[in-house]
Amino acid sequence: MYTVLITGANRGLGLEFVHQYADKGWNIIACCRNPQSAKSLAAVAQEYGKIELQALDVAIESDIQALAERLGERAIDHLVLNAGVLGENCAELGHMNQADWLNVLSVNTVAPALLIQALKDNLAASTYKTIAALSTRVASIEDNGSGGMYSYRASKAALNQILVSAANNLREQGVKTVALHPGWVQTDMGGEKATFTPRESVAGMMSIISQLTDEQSGSFWAFDGSTIPW
Ligand code: NDP
Repeated sequence: MYTVLITGANRGLGLEFVHQYADKGWNIIACCRNPQSAKSLAAVAQEYGKIELQALDVAIESDIQALAERLGERAIDHLVLNAGVLGENCAELGHMNQADWLNVLSVNTVAPALLIQALKDNLAASTYKTIAALSTRVASIEDNGSGGMYSYRASKAALNQILVSAANNLREQGVKTVALHPGWVQTDMGGEKATFTPRESVAGMMSIISQLTDEQSGSFWAFDGSTIPW
């Protein structure tokens, strides 16, 4: 059976990914900052036997290294780089500061790069060899007609570059990458008024991830199957 590793698996889209991979019968490595206090995730894990909880604060480099050491040479078919922050304190001119900016970059940009670096051999050893990262339509420079969201837009645009570089550099090992826009989704980040449910968003993204071809590696998709300009 196949294995998925999901970051930020304790709530929101990450938790919904856990539910839907469980429905497919996959082995799940569910990573979150505090497994002890992740009640919803623990409840799914109790109900469904093939979920392994792993502690991972993606902004702590030693956490990433320790996770990679614990995993050893285990194959990872899908790596879902989901953990992210909105950076409300660095969204507008007049309200930005260095510490909050660096935190947004650390979680949304640096962590995915370090996780790809740490786990690339685990991916190469698998059947599907696919890295999917949660980007966002507002990372698209062509789409930026309104400004604002400075740190979020920039951190996710840089994430997109990382995915294209990794698509190029890991092609020989057969490892593919994809940047995904989940839609505006009802989570803590998206808020109650968001358009889509986690269920429909994640179902769409999983369909794209599971059908991604070598030729499509390094591309940018919305959950509904449409492509997004960089
Ligand atoms: P939520 O705010 O609901 O959940 C964010 C998740 O990321 C939580 O599990 C959180 O864990 C985790 N996380 C944050 N910082 C860290 C960290 N340092 N280490 C480990 N985990 C961390 O967001 P969503 O579920 O809505 O978003 C998931 C992804 O989708 C994000 O990357 C987001 O940018 C992207 N996205 C979401 C959209 C939406 O409308 N919801 C739209 C476009 C993109 P903890 O509980 O410990 O804080």
